[in-house]
Amino acid sequence: MSFSNIIGHDRPITILKRALANKTLAHAYLFSGEAGIGKKMTAFALAAAVHCADAGPGGGCGACPSCRRVAALTHPDVHVVMPESEDARLLATWSSKEADKASDEIKIDQIRQAQESISLKPSEGSKKILLVDGAETLNLTAQNAFLKTLEEPPGDTLIILVTPLPQSLLPTIRSRCQEIRFQPLPRRTLAQALVSKRGLSDEDAWFLAALAQGSMGRGLGMDAGREKAERDQVTELWSGLSRMSDAEALALADGYAKDRERFDRLLDIGVECLRDALVYRETGDDRLLVQAGAGERCRNWSERFSLPKMLADLDLLSMSRTMLDRRVSAQLVAENLLLKLGRG
Ligand SMILES: [Zn+2]
Repeated sequence: MSFSNIIGHDRPITILKRALANKTLAHAYLFSGEAGIGKKMTAFALAAAVHCADAGPGGGCGACPSCRRVAALTHPDVHVVMPESEDARLLATWSSKEADKASDEIKIDQIRQAQESISLKPSEGSKKILLVDGAETLNLTAQNAFLKTLEEPPGDTLIILVTPLPQSLLPTIRSRCQEIRFQPLPRRTLAQALVSKRGLSDEDAWFLAALAQGSMGRGLGMDAGREKAERDQVTELWSGLSRMSDAEALALADGYAKDRERFDRLLDIGVECLRDALVYRETGDDRLLVQAGAGERCRNWSERFSLPKMLADLDLLSMSRTMLDRRVSAQLVAENLLLKLGRG
C-alpha cells in the first residue's frame, strides 16, 4: 500500500507527503469525505510511509515487509479499529462500503484494546499508529473514552480517524484533529481508473463513473450491463404506458406499490433518463449524459414527447418522490404516476 496506489486526491496526499518530509506530522488526523473515495487507502498509505524501511519522497515503497504488513493489518505498531464486519470485507476486496454498515458499530472494548496497544513502546517502527475507520460508529461512551487518548496521547503516537460523517463526532474530538477533506473523484479520473482496473470499455466506464458520483468503491462494485438493462426496462415501460388502458396501468401500479425498492428505482432512473433526454435535446452531446451511448434513446424520446410534456413528467416524478417521503400511500402515488406518465 503506497500513495501511488491511490487514484486522485492530489491535495490531501501532497499535504501528507510534505508533513512526512518535514517531520511535521500532526498527532491526530481526521480524514473526511464521501464513502468509498479513497480515505481509508490513504490512511493505510500514510501508516506504511511512516514505517517503510525504504521510504522515499513518494512515501512508502509498498513492497518491503513493513509496507506489506501494514496492508495485511499485521504490523505490530499499527493498530486498526473498524466496525467488526468491515474487517473481513476489507481484507477480501480492499473496497470500502461505508454506507452499508449502518448497523455495525465500534465497541467500547475495541477502543480500550486500542488504547492499551498504543500505550506500549513501538516494537519495530518509530511510532505507534492507531487507525480508526468508520469513526462515525463510535457511540458517545466510546467517543468520550477516546477523547482521553486524543488529549494525552501516549509517547509518539499518530492517530487517524476516517469517516464520511465527521459531524457525528464530538466537537471536542474534531477540534483535536487536523481535518483533511477528500473530494469526490472527477468523472474523468474515475472513468480512467475503471478502464484500467476493470478493463471496461470507455463508454461503460464513463457511464459507471457518473453513477458512482465520485466514489471509487461504488464504481468498482457496479455492473454496467445490469444498470443498462434497468434503464432499458424503464424506457420500455414508458413507451408501453401510452398504449395501455387505464385498467392495465392501474394493475402495473399495484405491482410497484407492493415493491418499494423497485418503485424507488423506477423514480430515480426515470428522473435520470428524462434529464439525459433534456440535456441531449439542448446540446446533442453524448458525453454529457449519465448513460454514455444513450444518445439515440434520448433522440427518440425528444421526437415522441414535446418539451412541455417532458418537463411535466419530470415534475410528476419528483412530486411522487416527495409524496412518498411524506408517507402518502405508495398505492396512491403509483396509481397517480402511471396514469399520467408518458400519457395524454
Ligand atoms: Zn516499504
